[in-house]
Amino acid sequence: MKTIIEPFRVKVVEPIRMTTREHREAVLQRAGMNVFLIDARDVLIDLLTDSGTGAMSSEQWAGVMRGDESYAGASSFHRFYDRLHDLTGMKHILPTHQGRASERILFEIVGGDGKVVPNNNHFDTTRANIEYSGAKAVDLVIEEGRVPQSRHPFKGIMDLYRLERLFEEVGPDKIPLVMLTITNNSGGGQPVSLENIREVRRVCDKYHKPFFFDACRFAENAYFIKKREPGHGDRSVKDIVQEMFSLVDGATISAKKDGLVNIGGVLLFRDAELAARARNLLILTEGFPTYGGLAGRDLEAMAQGFEEVLQEDYLQYRVRSVEYLGERIRAGGVKIVEPPGGHAIYIDAASFCPHISPEEFPGQAVVCALYRHAGIRAVEIGSLMFGAGGRRPDMELVRLAIPRRVYTQSHIDYVIEAVLEVYDERDKLKGLQITEEPQQLRHFTARLQERE
Ligand SMILES: *Cc1c(COP(=O)(O)O)cnc(C)c1O
Repeated sequence: MKTIIEPFRVKVVEPIRMTTREHREAVLQRAGMNVFLIDARDVLIDLLTDSGTGAMSSEQWAGVMRGDESYAGASSFHRFYDRLHDLTGMKHILPTHQGRASERILFEIVGGDGKVVPNNNHFDTTRANIEYSGAKAVDLVIEEGRVPQSRHPFKGIMDLYRLERLFEEVGPDKIPLVMLTITNNSGGGQPVSLENIREVRRVCDKYHKPFFFDACRFAENAYFIKKREPGHGDRSVKDIVQEMFSLVDGATISAKKDGLVNIGGVLLFRDAELAARARNLLILTEGFPTYGGLAGRDLEAMAQGFEEVLQEDYLQYRVRSVEYLGERIRAGGVKIVEPPGGHAIYIDAASFCPHISPEEFPGQAVVCALYRHAGIRAVEIGSLMFGAGGRRPDMELVRLAIPRRVYTQSHIDYVIEAVLEVYDERDKLKGLQITEEPQQLRHFTARLQERE
């Protein structure tokens, strides 16, 4: 059989509320053309993010009932610890309430004025936490990773030449650690090859620096290694995951992605001294080290999620349904970041509406049009998200992020039809201007209006 089906059946359903175009137009105006400010009940298909929006399995829900809510030393913590230890080999494993809490703690320890942190592409919260500490966040993805149409199989890889040059230019003392985001979310959900991970390790060894993953989508990354990198096709995804983590000194993880849970994060260290400092900060703002700002039931759900995400029929279905969405809209003429990433399709908004300049947020214009036309909520990843203070991002993208195990093939077909219908009317899209802008992470709360 060639057809790939959802490798699960539905046990609980949640209705979607159908809305009219007039209703959505009013909602959009009230929200200041910012879809983060729209109520979920006004959304038909929510592709805002794949973070924390997945469906848990019956085994995860059973774990929720088993959760041990003891303050210290809960058995749920031990199940969580054992699972993460098995996957990563790390000794020090701290639960946090989500990925950015791990980042905040890590960069409070290693960041600070004058420091420079390289990454393939920093995710927005990672960049914000680094900059908040006073340090500088530098993106060193390879050239192909900045070109939407390039079909490099591992577009998320670090440019090793630029990494070494950065070490020489700013000096190793200024660089507290090297990070690698797997898969590279801000660069289009593109994977990093095992070979590149090994090479970054080599550079870190040369300068005696720790190497950390931003490992939110480690399972999807490992699946791409299995499928695309020569020599790994016969290995299990779990085996690849274990090798990936064997090459790093620590990681921040948002469990809201490949942890298959709605809330949770992890902070991992090999080094006892760094871990001890992190644990103190964890106690200060998150909670005792055996629960870290979560309930025991959340730890149970994570322990089970980190196991289920490695099932290869799940990963095949996941990667294929994202790819299918990409293939179909590409066939209709829409330019996307090639090849399709693991968790999302990224529409190239600059080529979708070339009549709108980056200062007028072409990505946000497409986002608003998709909502208005079909009730689909996507997110801009371009000048609105990254362009504060005159910065110019490499690409103007619109991300259609696919929640895990939530939508079926017919939902995806609806999205395809909507994207293509908006594309047919693309000449009518209007640029936007900001009317209200906050200090940090402006895309979450800024208000905009359409230009005439
Ligand atoms: C989601 C994400 C984060 C932040 O995690 P939260 O759980 O949202 O705080 C960091 N890095 C990457 C690559 C992410 O995708």
